[in-house]
Amino acid sequence: MTVETRDFKTIFEKIDFYENHPLSEYTYTKVGGNAEVLFLPKCIEELRIIRKYATEHEIPMTVLGNASNLIIRDGGIKGFVVLLEKMNDITVNDKKVTAFAGAKLIEASEIAREVSLSGLEFASGIPGSIGGAIYMNAGAYGGEIADVFEDCQVMLKDGRLEVWTKEMMHFGYRSSALQAGGVICVSATLALTYGDIIEISQKMEELDEKRRLRQPLEYPSCGSVFKRPEGYFTGKLIQDTGLQGRIIGGAQVSTKHAGFIVNIGGASACDYEQLIALIIAEVQAKFGVTLQPEVRIIGEKISCDELQADS
Ligand SMILES: Cc1cc2nc3c(=O)[nH]c(=O)nc-3n(C[C@H](O)[C@H](O)[C@H](O)COP(=O)(O)OP(=O)(O)OC[C@H]3O[C@@H](n4cnc5c(N)ncnc54)[C@H](O)[C@@H]3O)c2cc1C
Repeated sequence: MTVETRDFKTIFEKIDFYENHPLSEYTYTKVGGNAEVLFLPKCIEELRIIRKYATEHEIPMTVLGNASNLIIRDGGIKGFVVLLEKMNDITVNDKKVTAFAGAKLIEASEIAREVSLSGLEFASGIPGSIGGAIYMNAGAYGGEIADVFEDCQVMLKDGRLEVWTKEMMHFGYRSSALQAGGVICVSATLALTYGDIIEISQKMEELDEKRRLRQPLEYPSCGSVFKRPEGYFTGKLIQDTGLQGRIIGGAQVSTKHAGFIVNIGGASACDYEQLIALIIAEVQAKFGVTLQPEVRIIGEKISCDELQADS
């Protein structure tokens, strides 16, 4: 334990937490080791108590949204892990949707549709949380979070809240100022426009259908593993190396979309990392293109040999 054993039940009273808890229960890939301490705060005040305690006791703290863009290594995550899924309220005020960071982007796009607000159609199939989507500047089919972002509330290390405007977010392709670390996105306001509910619904259905046809949604995965290199399509590059279908352990380069790595049963993070390294090396060797992972790989590495010995 890096977190010295303390009486957390007394310290954190009504806050939900688990010690030594498997994160594979939460990740979209279904891989990942344990969190030393996993917290599920229900409100800003609970998050502030956890945040301040971690800072004052120099305990590392990792925030998870919906864990759909993560490979958590098999050695798990040391220190505090905070899952924001219980901070999930969404409210609509005229053309603005304000959501807590743990709210699901898909739900926000659904609520927007119900009140004829247009702008979040692109997001209807992205399985992230609001916080994770802002952190990643998630996007699809020509739209991205930056297009609708108005501002967000972030929590600093000392528990204070600040409002960050769009200018402060420095959005880029799958990037935002949140990636510099140090702050937690607590809530955000998205500015939409009124549209025609039938057109909004049609657009969302059309995009959902495209996903169902092209993506291996029947298997656990973390979505597109790599960022799209300028001038190329990642899936095509990988296909042309001949790696589509390649299996390492329980991880496979999807036979439906080569940009995805799916867990076909019992995969470890180690399997994922080996397959990612193989793809990067082959694409580099064959086409001179350097693929950059879009997926965030975090946590403690344990060697694949150790992992096999344990199982
Ligand atoms: C089947 C599938 C399809 C996908 N399709 C797309 C797509 O079309 N477009 C796209 O862009 N992505 C796609 N993704 C990837 C993923 O859904 C997005 O990147 C999403 O925005 C990640 O959000 P999350 O809440 O799951 O973040 P997580 O995976 O939980 O976290 C990602 C990063 O954000 C950080 N983070 C999360 N919440 C906060 C917060 N509140 N404050 C500070 N940091 C935070 C985490 O620490 C981590 O570093 C897909 C994934 C899957 C599995």
